[in-house]
Amino acid sequence: ERKAKKVRSDVKDRKEMKKLRKISREEYLKEREKKKLEEMRDEIKDEKYLFGDGSKFSELESSKLRYMNDVYEIVKKKKGLEDVGDDGYKMPEAYDDQNGGVNQVKRFAAALRRYKESDSGDRVKPFAEQKSWEDQQIGKGSLKFGSQDVKRNGDDYEYVFEDQIEFIKASVMDGENVEDMFNEPSDGFREKERVQNLQDERKTLPIYRFKEDLLKAIHDNQVLVIVGETGSGKTTQITQYLHEAGYTKRGKIGCTQPRRVAAMSVASRVSKEMGVKLGHEVGYSIRFEDNTSEKTVIKYMTDGMLLREFLGEPDLASYSVLMVDEAHERTISTDVLFGLVKDVARFRSDLKLIISSASLDANKFSDYFDCAPIFNIPGRRFPIEVNYTKAPEADYMDAAIVTILQIHLTQPPGDILVFLTGQEEIEAAEELLRQRTRGMGTKISELIICPIFANLPLELQNNIFEPTPKGARKVVLATNIAETSLTIDGINYVVDPGFCKMKSYNPRTGMESLLVTPISMASALQRAGRSGRTGPGKCFRLYTAFNYQNDLEENTMPEIQRTNISNVVLTLKCMGIDDLMGFDFMDPPPAETLLKALELLYSLSAINSVGQLTKTGRRMAEFPLDPMLSKMIVASEKYKCSEEIISIAGMLSAGNLVFYRPKEKKVHADAAKMNFHAGNVGDHIALLKVYSSWEENNYSTLWCFENFIQVKTMKQARDIRDQLKGLLERVEIELRSSFNDVVSIKKAITSGFFPHLAMLQRTGAYRTGRNPQTAHIHPSSGLVCVLPKCVVYHELVLTTKEYMRQITEVKPEWLVEIAPHYYQLKDLQ
Ligand code: ADP
Ligand code: MG
Repeated sequence: ERKAKKVRSDVKDRKEMKKLRKISREEYLKEREKKKLEEMRDEIKDEKYLFGDGSKFSELESSKLRYMNDVYEIVKKKKGLEDVGDDGYKMPEAYDDQNGGVNQVKRFAAALRRYKESDSGDRVKPFAEQKSWEDQQIGKGSLKFGSQDVKRNGDDYEYVFEDQIEFIKASVMDGENVEDMFNEPSDGFREKERVQNLQDERKTLPIYRFKEDLLKAIHDNQVLVIVGETGSGKTTQITQYLHEAGYTKRGKIGCTQPRRVAAMSVASRVSKEMGVKLGHEVGYSIRFEDNTSEKTVIKYMTDGMLLREFLGEPDLASYSVLMVDEAHERTISTDVLFGLVKDVARFRSDLKLIISSASLDANKFSDYFDCAPIFNIPGRRFPIEVNYTKAPEADYMDAAIVTILQIHLTQPPGDILVFLTGQEEIEAAEELLRQRTRGMGTKISELIICPIFANLPLELQNNIFEPTPKGARKVVLATNIAETSLTIDGINYVVDPGFCKMKSYNPRTGMESLLVTPISMASALQRAGRSGRTGPGKCFRLYTAFNYQNDLEENTMPEIQRTNISNVVLTLKCMGIDDLMGFDFMDPPPAETLLKALELLYSLSAINSVGQLTKTGRRMAEFPLDPMLSKMIVASEKYKCSEEIISIAGMLSAGNLVFYRPKEKKVHADAAKMNFHAGNVGDHIALLKVYSSWEENNYSTLWCFENFIQVKTMKQARDIRDQLKGLLERVEIELRSSFNDVVSIKKAITSGFFPHLAMLQRTGAYRTGRNPQTAHIHPSSGLVCVLPKCVVYHELVLTTKEYMRQITEVKPEWLVEIAPHYYQLKDLQ
């Protein structure tokens, strides 16, 4: 009782403190900017950097580039120098003349311009595209977490001054079990070169020593929780040990991964270690891609795919072992799997169940699985130095770039791992790094940039595992995937901006958004840990020690508690699990979220008024899509337009990057886009037109270039469409086409998306359907200037505002015709 009281008062104090400190932090930032500005002015007065010799310039950190431009402008005025030209490229002599101070200035200025105009050039830049659309059409706004700050385009003067980042060394995370590791050469990142072959390499993994003990523990227990530091060999080795021990004689070994990239990458690795072709004995299965065969005995798959397998095989009879890997990630599918596999294990005593996790707190898993024993694989880690920034950084993207270059210029060999939030950020960072290092010429050693994110093709993914050549340094730009799912050897430096993209869900409004959110302390620890695997490491956190202590949550909230669960509820219903309140969740979803899911499924007629699955619901569950999309497809039968609807569904599922817009060809790109939007048909029909035209042009890549369409997205859409076509057959929906009957197509769309209704208000903004909230048409929409009275949208995204993305105009009469249980005409007038 007393303890509880203390905790409560502590919490209150901390909240108060937080408030106080927040204010002072802001003030501190302002102070700091002011001071910096003054210092910079002094430097300009001294012209300290301007007319020094070449070597002096090479000492400049790239972070000074922007600063240099302003210096250049000032000096130019003072000395009456000629300009470098608008595009900043027409100055070859500046590159030749290494010693001319003025040319050096020009060179920096030119590099800077290229940097500022980072959305120029004909390379595809979705990030820049979206950004300029938003800026152009809506006016500037500042983003919530600062990553896409406007300062790059703006002339906000004080922002232009940015020095190199000062870090404070805060703590050293001890190494574990390093006694025999210190015999290794300290440049352990070359370890790979010394290992003769993959089989020897396998023996160097920490798990290898425990092989026999581990096999015995699995033999003796039906359920085993395995805990081990990332990189110890859990994912790639345990499956092989079990295979070697004969477990595959009576069934497959299944291993689930929360991420598609991990499933692909790990399967590819294991197939190499076993010397077999990927897709034969070792395969993977992810949504819209099944790379397995009759021969497959070790199958890696996303947790979502195993969930779907339950639909066809409720007892998972074809498996002898199931390994729920990366359990600490607590994705919604993993959480539901826990409940299902626990149940299956009860009546299949021959099934072995392994729950493996990289987090040290495995007791929760053990408790949940009826006190299953915990097998601990001792880690092998070198000490890690943790550094924090001295003050908060306004823009973490920029800070990350500066830090990467700072490490590259000042730190001993070793690769760098940077955590960013998604594909767009990674591509933008790649571009920025290239531009900035280009300006440095041969004065720095080579920096090899390797991106890794979910949509990257498998061949490119493997690049990150290539050993770094001598004299060069690799920088891996990764999403959360590299936190625990993938281990990259040779990383000695980690740059952690402290953010990740996370789903959040408001059950009251039914709004789901993907938000850039601060990570948890547990994540920060994992990220730091990635630097100490092959030698002593350093982690650079782009936030302050104070932020870490006070602003980060201790653990990431399980996904099931912060997401829309209608998809999972439908799957469970399909398995005959009707009592969802009674389902054995490790952490149950909020009751409100559950109710919301049931309500949505009911309004889509997937379940009836007593919560039983309907025929429509059963058909919907066949599609690995969100319920509204599957409903749209099922409804296409009635409107005789399944051909068109699966094209639209394929396009919607392939991602948002369909059109692109190179800066120097804006007019052409816009005209090409307008072609598809002619007649204000709405975004869904425009997507359909894009797909059909591409199809008519024999899926031509050239056609895509000519029309400013992203080939990658189109190919993905085609793959998805092919799969959906196969599934249509399974649910016995005929392929029919009514290409010119736009009303029928729109009605089919409305049948799925009527809950996503939005009505135009007098203010020019929209109000969403039954859970009123203000939203706006996304600037990328073809209808952004049309403002129809009544629309349905595909999704809501929150960037500078709440935006509806992919919208189609609908008639109030259709809504009443299609969803009379949901809307009445009088509400829609
Ligand atoms: P854990 O699951 O315990 O985190 P893994 O089994 O994923 O460990 O990794 C063990 C080792 O295999 C690591 O040293 C990692 O570098 C290596 N590895 C894993 N996947 C690949 C890959 N696709 N290419 C090269 N090496 C890989
Ligand atoms: Mg793993």
